[in-house]
Amino acid sequence: MKDLSDYLRSIPDFPKPGIIFRDVTSILQNADGFKLAIDSLLQKLEGVEFDVIAGAESRGFIFSAPLAYKLNKPLALIRKKGKLPCETVSASYALEYGFAEIEMHKDSISKGQKVILIDDLLATGGTLEASAKLIEMLGGHVEKILTLIELLGLHGREKLKKYNVESVLSFE
Ligand code: IMP
Repeated sequence: MKDLSDYLRSIPDFPKPGIIFRDVTSILQNADGFKLAIDSLLQKLEGVEFDVIAGAESRGFIFSAPLAYKLNKPLALIRKKGKLPCETVSASYALEYGFAEIEMHKDSISKGQKVILIDDLLATGGTLEASAKLIEMLGGHVEKILTLIELLGLHGREKLKKYNVESVLSFE
């Protein structure tokens, strides 16, 4: 039987020399690969009690939506600044050049709710750290942070020490 890593294409020197880009599209383009990805994430949530799934734009949406559907939970979207029409909370985080700002609708999570935070990939951890902050600003509790892929060499986990972080595949 094929492993999820068999479906993942790695592209050397993208987007710049020295970076190995883990290309999630190669998983999505294969029906068995996508199913295995969702099933692997579902397995990591077995026995976990929670109220809401939160997905980070944009590839986090692809994986969070099927989980919310399958587990019959609401889906809260973490979006880039300026996309959400109602009242929001926002947080910013550093990028290599400059910074990024993300937002959530204030009514997407209620005080005390347990939230599972999903993204496709954990690199430096900046995106997920800011995403977790948004959830907490709304009074939510980050029960678990779950990604499909983790790039261990970038030590994203260190930024997320206070959370329960799990990933399906990890690479140095
Ligand atoms: P971080 O904030 O540095 O952890 O970066 C995480 C974000 O960058 C995720 O939302 C990913 O979509 C994206 N990302 C970083 N490296 C890769 C990669 O090798 N493949 C796909 N996405 C990546």
